[in-house]
Amino acid sequence: MTKRRAPANPRQWRNWAGTATATPARWCQPRDEAEICAAVKDAASAGLRVRALGTGHSFTAAAATDGVALDLSLWTGITAADSRTGLVTLRSGTTLRALNAALGEFGLAMANLGDIDAQTIAGALATGTHGTGARLGGLATQVEALDLVLADGSPVTCSASARPDLFAAARVGLGALGVVTAVTLRCVPSFTLAADERPLPVDQVLERFDALAAANDHFEFYWFPYGRQALVKRNNRLPGGGAERRGGTERDGESGAPLPGWRRFWEFEVMENAAFGTLCRTGRAAPRLIPALGRFASAALSSRSYTDASYRVFVTPRRVHFVESEYAVPRESLRGVLAELRRAVPRLAEPVMFPVEVRVAAADDIWLSTGYGRDTAYVAIHQYAGLPYRAYFDLFESIVAGVAGRPHWGKLHSMDSGRLRPLYPHFDDFLRVRAEVDPEDRFGNPYLARILGPVSGPVTG
Ligand SMILES: Cc1cc2nc3c(=O)[nH]c(=O)nc-3n(C[C@H](O)[C@H](O)[C@H](O)COP(=O)(O)OP(=O)(O)OC[C@H]3O[C@@H](n4cnc5c(N)ncnc54)[C@H](O)[C@@H]3O)c2cc1C
Repeated sequence: MTKRRAPANPRQWRNWAGTATATPARWCQPRDEAEICAAVKDAASAGLRVRALGTGHSFTAAAATDGVALDLSLWTGITAADSRTGLVTLRSGTTLRALNAALGEFGLAMANLGDIDAQTIAGALATGTHGTGARLGGLATQVEALDLVLADGSPVTCSASARPDLFAAARVGLGALGVVTAVTLRCVPSFTLAADERPLPVDQVLERFDALAAANDHFEFYWFPYGRQALVKRNNRLPGGGAERRGGTERDGESGAPLPGWRRFWEFEVMENAAFGTLCRTGRAAPRLIPALGRFASAALSSRSYTDASYRVFVTPRRVHFVESEYAVPRESLRGVLAELRRAVPRLAEPVMFPVEVRVAAADDIWLSTGYGRDTAYVAIHQYAGLPYRAYFDLFESIVAGVAGRPHWGKLHSMDSGRLRPLYPHFDDFLRVRAEVDPEDRFGNPYLARILGPVSGPVTG
């Protein structure tokens, strides 16, 4: 397993996007569960708060702390795997990249993944990380059990049958309920995806949106503001992991072998990172060119079809830094949201350099999952690092507010507990469990105070 290093100045913490920094009073790198329990107890004795750190890929200050930073980068690896049942238990600091590689050795894979694999499993789960697929939920829906260390330093296990309320809360737990030490996932047999990516007029994509979402295992699209084309990505599972093709208009173009190494390098590193990075830097230096650059990027979108191991298709390198906000909206409101966004973006004083990404997910039953109780469309907006984004993100939030949009917990948003409560039927249940397991707010930080409010315990019922 890869070992990550603590920063040169261990008192400084900064997230990937540079949107959050912190100076923890203590930096601990526990190597086993006993050391995690001890770190939590020691923090309590010293009157310090505790946050577990993932790899800092949240745009929000979710992991920030001025108390004890629990760096779990030495707490990695699979501890049990059963190829027959698909049940896999791993330590919480394991990155998705290390997990995907290790699962391959057992003939297993995650049923769905997001765009990147740099996150830790616990960090990804804590904020409700998701991929795309109308019949699939986010990563937390693949969890069968969690081991946590609670605020009093005691270890517990929760699952659908053991402490079910804690399990319903902790699968997307925001790091508010304890330190997750181990995760048991229900994985699926390794599978191959046929990837088809092609530009289509955005109007056509929106017209066919429901059919495209229904017909493809993993459907998403990118749209460059100011452009008329969307890049439509359709990833479909090949039966038996083989090369058999399935037809149908909404599933066009399933074909191909894995991309040869040089072409992966050319498409993902050169075109999507180096060339796109140059375009973004040009836009940052001369913002008046951004609409034209966006139209150029949109017109230059090209097609590709290939097949590969699932995780090599789901995940792509993201080397161009950006800031992001993402909201989950009821699937049926997607068209209205995008129509408003398309009308409003050209009127912004500060132009937008990065594409909008649209994905889908099935309804789930996890209390603070953004997909709770409703089939979801995710709309993610981005801006190139260093360009102004506030007015754009505010505009977006005002649009999604009209359709009960729920913000991704790891991406920029301005919501607070008062506005979030009506969006989540189990919001108060989450707060009740939090008050039970962490009555002194040991795992609190300013971000949690904003989105959850104060710990109000003990609560009965
Ligand atoms: C380039 C990029 C691409 C992304 N792509 C996607 C995507 O495709 N889909 C998507 O949904 N999101 C995506 N994200 C968001 C990302 O998946 C989440 O923000 C995720 O939480 C980051 O994981 P992390 O390991 O970096 O956790 P961090 O950001 O370090 O921490 C996140 C939260 O988890 C808590 N935490 C971490 N470890 C533990 C633990 N052991 N116990 C308890 N709490 C813990 C932290 O305290 C914090 O509250 C992307 C982000 C970036 C920067």
